[in-house]
Amino acid sequence: MNQNSAVSPETELGQPGPSRKVFIKTYGCQMNVYDSGRMSEALAGEGYVATDDMQEADLVLLNTCHIREKAAEKVYSALGRLRDMKNERQAEGREFMIGVTGCVAQAEGEEIIRRAPSVDVVIGPQTYHRLPEALKRARSGQSVVDTEYAVEDKFEHLPDQSKTASTKRNVTAFLTVQEGCDKFCTFCVVPYTRGSEISRSLEQIVREAEKLVSAGVRELTLLGQNVNAWHAEGETGEQLGLGDLLYRLSDIPGLKRLRYTTSHPRDMDDRLIEAHRDLDMLMPYLHLPVQSGSDRILKAMNRRHKAADYIALVERIRAARPDIALSGDFIVGFPGETEEDFQATLRLVETVGYAQAFSFKYSSRPGTPGADMPDHVPDEVKAERLARLQELLLSQQHAFARSCVGKTIDLLLEKPGRLPGQLIGRSPWLQSVNVDAKDVEIGDTIKVRITGTGPNSLFAEVA
Ligand code: SF4
Repeated sequence: MNQNSAVSPETELGQPGPSRKVFIKTYGCQMNVYDSGRMSEALAGEGYVATDDMQEADLVLLNTCHIREKAAEKVYSALGRLRDMKNERQAEGREFMIGVTGCVAQAEGEEIIRRAPSVDVVIGPQTYHRLPEALKRARSGQSVVDTEYAVEDKFEHLPDQSKTASTKRNVTAFLTVQEGCDKFCTFCVVPYTRGSEISRSLEQIVREAEKLVSAGVRELTLLGQNVNAWHAEGETGEQLGLGDLLYRLSDIPGLKRLRYTTSHPRDMDDRLIEAHRDLDMLMPYLHLPVQSGSDRILKAMNRRHKAADYIALVERIRAARPDIALSGDFIVGFPGETEEDFQATLRLVETVGYAQAFSFKYSSRPGTPGADMPDHVPDEVKAERLARLQELLLSQQHAFARSCVGKTIDLLLEKPGRLPGQLIGRSPWLQSVNVDAKDVEIGDTIKVRITGTGPNSLFAEVA
């Protein structure tokens, strides 16, 4: 993260002072990446400049994720290392502050200060707009824990994201439209750490999107833990869903591409599927987690749909947008999963065909219903099933990449490549594509022909 847009630093007394540097370590999902960017912008107003080098930082923030196994323990061990750095800095008479933000901050709260007293601030995902204020209070020597859900809307209190995008000449940007989750899947901590579903207003989103586009953004990815649960009132009081929002955003002059993530199958309504049919600028790539192909396990996971519902949904989406590529999430070895259940997952994968996927062994999250379920699957069984699943998913991923060779596609140019004259862009299916091109600019969309595949990207020539 680059923070060249930092305004003139001022001390707490309002006098110009030397800039401080902040290093943000981001764990987890794209929403955390977005949140880290917004925190960095909020801190720019306090004179902080972002750095990629922790050694030169005056403030280190760990923007944490609670999804993976032993997430909290990993944060505590990172805090042990930061405590040693803080002791060294203090011996040199220099300021060094430590903050914990994100989902582990929300879940652990005061416990973080108890176990790691060198931490100065603990801020939850809903309150990070109050980070500058918390740092000021912490400088007086008192650690600050702020994980209460904010009554005020944090987005109204954060600085204008488009200013950063403009300075950095970003072509793509994330835009959070929804946060939290009411689904309570039995393996997941998100409803406890991010709270219940809230949607930002149509007006707020459109305003932010327009500013980003006027700052040079050409592709917007709408973010939400449950993004397709977004809903709001329209200008005349009508109820709008994510499909309506996409139609509305597609009218913004200069915007070329739209994406959204992450979706729950139950919230894929007709209007959203129509948007995939009607809007060329809505990219034909959809991340639609299913987790398991066994109805028994889906029920135990509280996913509230069956495997056949998911497959039928995919068929409807493909009928509306035949070139759409699917990405998914899978958990193997959920409590009670038998070989037969696992075989049902493999069958679902064969039926759907994924261009990309994320798959994990189940691991218990304290406080979730899954943790208390009987019949936990032995780790070696989980590992063996995961290997089989990943082999299948990887073969589908490679087959999808190979199927692109020879196709002529639109490529949105995002940044220079490593070699002179080379540029890197994104395909409609989110693949990174290298191309040699002249007389074009970052932000242009050009026609290219895919000529080959690499381990993590594609190669193309101008068509
Ligand atoms: S829908 Fe997603 S975020 Fe919500 S509980 Fe389930 S897995 Fe977690």
